[in-house]
Amino acid sequence: MPKSKLTDRFGRTVNYVRLSVTDRCDFRCVYCMAEDMTFLPRQQVLTLEEIARVARNFVDLGTEKIRLTGGEPMVRKDILELVREIGTYGLRDFAMTTNGSQLSHMAEPLRKAGLHRLNISLDSLDEDKFRTITRTGRLSHVLDGIDAAREAGFRGIKLNTVVMKGRNDEEIPELIEFARRKQVDISFIEEMPLGEISEHDRGLALCTSDEVRDIIRKRHDLVPATEDSGGPARYYRMPDSPIRVGFISPHSHNFCSTCNRVRVTVEGRLLLCLGNEHSVDLRRVLRGNPVNDEKLRQTIINAMDLKPERHHFSSDGDVQILRFMNMTGG
Ligand code: SAM
Ligand code: SF4
Repeated sequence: MPKSKLTDRFGRTVNYVRLSVTDRCDFRCVYCMAEDMTFLPRQQVLTLEEIARVARNFVDLGTEKIRLTGGEPMVRKDILELVREIGTYGLRDFAMTTNGSQLSHMAEPLRKAGLHRLNISLDSLDEDKFRTITRTGRLSHVLDGIDAAREAGFRGIKLNTVVMKGRNDEEIPELIEFARRKQVDISFIEEMPLGEISEHDRGLALCTSDEVRDIIRKRHDLVPATEDSGGPARYYRMPDSPIRVGFISPHSHNFCSTCNRVRVTVEGRLLLCLGNEHSVDLRRVLRGNPVNDEKLRQTIINAMDLKPERHHFSSDGDVQILRFMNMTGG
């Protein structure tokens, strides 16, 4: 595997790319979307071939890890074809983030198509609360999906929970017991101020990772895990379980100094930081140079100079980034 040719002004090496494959979704989670969303017209969205071309060129530049995300990746028609194609690029790690709604029938085909790992969002184990948070989701479908994923033999499965005060914070012990029972990792995420929402006040809803950890420690010892994911999550282990418990804390712990990742939106905008607007239009380069990849690679290399040193999320709930998470590719 070639060493990454992508280094930024602060000496950080970028070897991890998150590709958004759609801005659409079958859920409308309250922290991610407005209830009434307008989605992108088709011609603005990269084709599957264009997404694969972006992926291939990142791999040529030394990328070792790709995560497909969205929106909900599974609502993109022919997603399996894209997974099959990227699965041939020899990645060290190939993952997808999903809401799990279609996993009961998609888990095995995804695994067979070459996907290594899955992150599945799960914010509540209560059918009514799950419905309130996702607005349209059915908990039973996601639970069936988690079981199907376990049976499909992925290298790793992790649950992702966005914790909101007064919404699902009282379910933290139950979610931990669920993850222990199913033998899957779980990460708790602080809500980020991406996109303007009116449904709740993010400042009031913020439940910090320290608070979540204190709740878990009432029942379980949490020992910091020695391995480093290189990412924003801090991992812990419990003495009597093989699972890892992660905390993603954009507010309370700044993780920018070790950031190794960039994102590409489904419009082909290369985003250098989740918490900043810096971006480069790859779609223009892709469509302007349909055969030769040299310009695309050079544009990606040059874009590294734009990667900012850090993000500046504030915890008062103010929106600093107007993009919704479904546009960004969480
Ligand atoms: N639809 C898939 C899903 O829900 O897993 C993939 C896309 S979703 C945007 C990726 C992750 O971002 C999910 O785990 C979701 O919970 C998280 N997310 C969305 N909006 C967020 C926000 N404002 N703050 C923190 N996490 C957020
Ligand atoms: Fe859809 Fe995922 Fe956003 Fe929820 S978090 S609305 S499932 S994209």
